[in-house]
Amino acid sequence: MKRYAALLITFAIFLGGVGARDGARDGARDAAAVRVPVLLYHRFLNHNTTGDIYTITPMELERDLRYLRDAGYSAISVGELVDYVKNGAPLPDKPVMLTFDDGHYNNIHYGAPLLEQYGMKASVFIVGKYSESSARENDVNPNYSYITWEQLECLPPCLEAHNHTWDMHNLRPRKGISRKSDESRADYEMDLASDLLRLQSKIEKCTGAAPVGFAHPFGTDCSEAETVFRAVGIEASFCSRQGINSLSPGDAGALYCIKRLLRTPSKTAERLIKAYS
Ligand SMILES: [Zn+2]
Repeated sequence: MKRYAALLITFAIFLGGVGARDGARDGARDAAAVRVPVLLYHRFLNHNTTGDIYTITPMELERDLRYLRDAGYSAISVGELVDYVKNGAPLPDKPVMLTFDDGHYNNIHYGAPLLEQYGMKASVFIVGKYSESSARENDVNPNYSYITWEQLECLPPCLEAHNHTWDMHNLRPRKGISRKSDESRADYEMDLASDLLRLQSKIEKCTGAAPVGFAHPFGTDCSEAETVFRAVGIEASFCSRQGINSLSPGDAGALYCIKRLLRTPSKTAERLIKAYS
C-alpha cells in the first residue's frame, strides 16, 4: 500500500507536466502500416448454459487457434506491439493478438494448454476487485472463479497480465472509465489514476512486471483517459469498437483505443478476420 501511495504522488507530479502532450499524436513515419487483428475473448466453458455471447467452449477456442496457426498467424504481446510502433522493432509476417477480458480462471484452466499446444500467447486483462474476491474465497473453479494473486504469481508463459481497472468494471456511478457528468477533469483524472495504479502495483508485485496494456470496461470511449494512461505507464489500450487496426512505427497515438474483434459463439476468428480484411 505504501508503494501504491508513492505511485499516486508520482502520478500527481507527472500529470502537471504531461498536459501539453495530452492527445498529441506523433506523426506517422513513412514505414508501411501493418494490419494487426486483435481478437477479444472472455470465458471458456464446456457448457454455455446461459447462451451468452461472451462464452465459448474450449473446442471453439481450439478451432480459432488451429485456423490462426494454419493461416500463418503469429501471436504477439502488448509489449511487442508497443515496441513495433514506438521503436520500429520488427513484427512477424502476420501478427495477431489474442486478448482475454475480465481475468477468468478458465483462461488458465482451459485456455493456457491450448495456447501452448498451438504455439500462441494471449494477454489477460485482470479486474482487481474480482481477483481480490476470488483470492479471499479460495474456491478455485473454472466455472466461476477469477485468477487469484497467487495464480498470477505463477502465470503460464503463454499468458501475460494487463489492467482492466481495479474497481471500474461497473455501470454506476460511472460507466466503465468514462467521466461523470458532474465531475471536473482534474477529479476524474485523479480518481482514474488512483484506480489504475492500485492494479498496476498489485500486478507488478505478483508478476515482476508492471502492465503496459489496458482494456476498456464496456468498451467506453477513451479520449479523456489518455493523459492518465501515459502517466501510469499504460502504453496501449484496447476498446470494443469492431475492426482491424493499421499501425505504423512512429504513430504512438494510434496505440490508444485499439479496435478489436469480439469472438462470440457464432463468429469464429476466421469469419471475423475475413469480414474485416
Ligand atoms: Zn470486461
